[in-house]
Amino acid sequence: MNSVDFLLTNEDITYEIRTEIKRLGRPIPDLIISKTDVGKSRNYSRNLNSSVYDIFRWLCGCPKRNKLFCFICLVMGGNRSAWTQEGLAAAFVFAH
Ligand SMILES: [Zn+2]
Repeated sequence: MNSVDFLLTNEDITYEIRTEIKRLGRPIPDLIISKTDVGKSRNYSRNLNSSVYDIFRWLCGCPKRNKLFCFICLVMGGNRSAWTQEGLAAAFVFAH
């Protein structure tokens, strides 16, 4: 129930269910997200380190979409930002 997929695909989640999801906590799956930077002589590839979940306590992940989301925004609803609608594959954008 506390999956990103559930939160994204259910429009009318009751207050009671939102409270329960908050109690269950955020999903922090190991995602394989890599980003390739084009360098002068070679390309650099960086992978998502799961420690980002420790650094950013609001971050959660969706293995189905392979993207990161803001757990607070997803659970609380309302704020339909890129964080809640699309998720960010750009795991390296840490500003929220
Ligand atoms: Zn948020």
